[in-house]
Amino acid sequence: LHVPPRRRMVVSRAMSAEAPLGVTPAAEEPAGRQEAVPVAEMVEEAAVWCAVHGLVVGDRAEPRSGTVPGVGLVHAPFSLLPARFPASFWKQACELAPIFNDLVDRVSLDGEFLQDSLSRARQVDDFTARLLDIHAKMMEINKEEDIRLGLHRSDYMLDSETNSLLQIENNTISSSFPGLGSLVSELHRTLLNRYGKTLGLDSKRIPRNRAATQFAEALGIAWTEFNNKSAVIMMVVQPEERNMYDQYWLINHLKESHGVKTIRKTLAQVEAGGHVLPDGTLVIDGQTVSVVYFRAGYSPNDYPSEAEWKARLLMEQSSAIKCPSISYHLVGTKKIQQELAKPNVLERFLDNKEDIAKLRKCFAGLWSLDNEEIVKTAIEKPDLFVLKPQREGGGNNIYGHDLQETLVRLQKEQGEALAAYILMQRIFPRASLTHLVQGGVCFEDLTISELGIYGAYLRNKDKVVMNNQCGYLMRTKVSSSNEGGVAAGFAVLDSILLT
Ligand code: ADP
Ligand code: MG
Ligand code: MG
Repeated sequence: LHVPPRRRMVVSRAMSAEAPLGVTPAAEEPAGRQEAVPVAEMVEEAAVWCAVHGLVVGDRAEPRSGTVPGVGLVHAPFSLLPARFPASFWKQACELAPIFNDLVDRVSLDGEFLQDSLSRARQVDDFTARLLDIHAKMMEINKEEDIRLGLHRSDYMLDSETNSLLQIENNTISSSFPGLGSLVSELHRTLLNRYGKTLGLDSKRIPRNRAATQFAEALGIAWTEFNNKSAVIMMVVQPEERNMYDQYWLINHLKESHGVKTIRKTLAQVEAGGHVLPDGTLVIDGQTVSVVYFRAGYSPNDYPSEAEWKARLLMEQSSAIKCPSISYHLVGTKKIQQELAKPNVLERFLDNKEDIAKLRKCFAGLWSLDNEEIVKTAIEKPDLFVLKPQREGGGNNIYGHDLQETLVRLQKEQGEALAAYILMQRIFPRASLTHLVQGGVCFEDLTISELGIYGAYLRNKDKVVMNNQCGYLMRTKVSSSNEGGVAAGFAVLDSILLT
């Protein structure tokens, strides 16, 4: 049996306090400023912490781990230490949350804007077309949504070229990791309480992260506004979900702190067991549903047959609170993000000039592909852009050489093919050396990070019941990888240490 020697290694995130974001590689750091800490010991302690605190996901290696709770658990992938993040950018990102919440609500009320902006994408993208069909049906019947619940996550990267906080996207459906994200902050706090002195890092500089309890609270208060004590919350889930514990954290908080029962149903199960009463009440397996909380339904893969689309329409037609409604869902599309970044568009939806300026400041370059000039530039310099289809969930964007090829091909195809995509300025965060832990194995690599800020919005008719920033999620990925999804296997969960 080969037992590797317990090496005393340098934890790069724990070095120079002056480093603006992340740190320079250990080799370049002058000796003497390096602090030695027992990495192997920390990794073991962290893994145990994950196991006993539920910072876990289903293990790919165990076939039942996505369907049977409590089977085949593995610690979620995490970084060993929090990422340095300047307090000024942190404050800026937090301040944006309620403004984006408000913006989503305002834009959602303008059905014509949503339909018009997405009309060309719909001709070439079946998925977008199906969502728009449901939305159009709701417009036809003048469907009123009295109670509106948004659980969003706006994602940002720090662009090293411009030293600015730039938005990647705002997720309005199935914003993931409020549960596990809050736990990673606790994990890092625990590690720093023990090793912080050696590392020169103060655990108090990790902001409190209450994303899980605050999202549960938003769902609980929505349930209260619905005003039916016997009603349940229904979480719409994928048939196989290895990230189920992130969801169960919310379910658990809802039960323990709000006394609310949550059921989990797939779209197919909703189609099979659900119906809407003449008064609009959504009933599934004999239970009245107060809130439909989508943790599925954002991807074409979630709709393998007509049954799933029937379920989506059924829920939308009901008087249950939808999180998100079809209109909130559409506001979160890449195309709408790009339309909102055009001159004078925010002004259509918001009155407060300061809010508008704050939003605009975080917008990266975004272009529609009917802009021939920018398409030409992107073909010439593909590394400065990201090509995005109307998709969610990671792994769909196109970069570099593929971007070039795709644009050339789409241009040749004529017609509307280009309308399925938007172009975005590529953001270049500074890379730093980080210890990543995956499946009990720790490795060091150059990484970049993306900060997500959760926001909860609840409105009942004219009364805004809640409009809050609700904790955060840092995701860190190897800098050579383009995509960033944790569930998709590209990134690890992280937290931040304010500098
Ligand atoms: P999705 O809805 O699939 O999450 P995103 O727009 O968030 O789509 O893109 C997925 C990932 O691609 C992001 O998490 C980020 O890592 C990377 N990415 C997206 N846009 C940019 C950009 N403009 N510059 C650099 N990386 C980006
Ligand atoms: Mg997204
Ligand atoms: Mg994303």
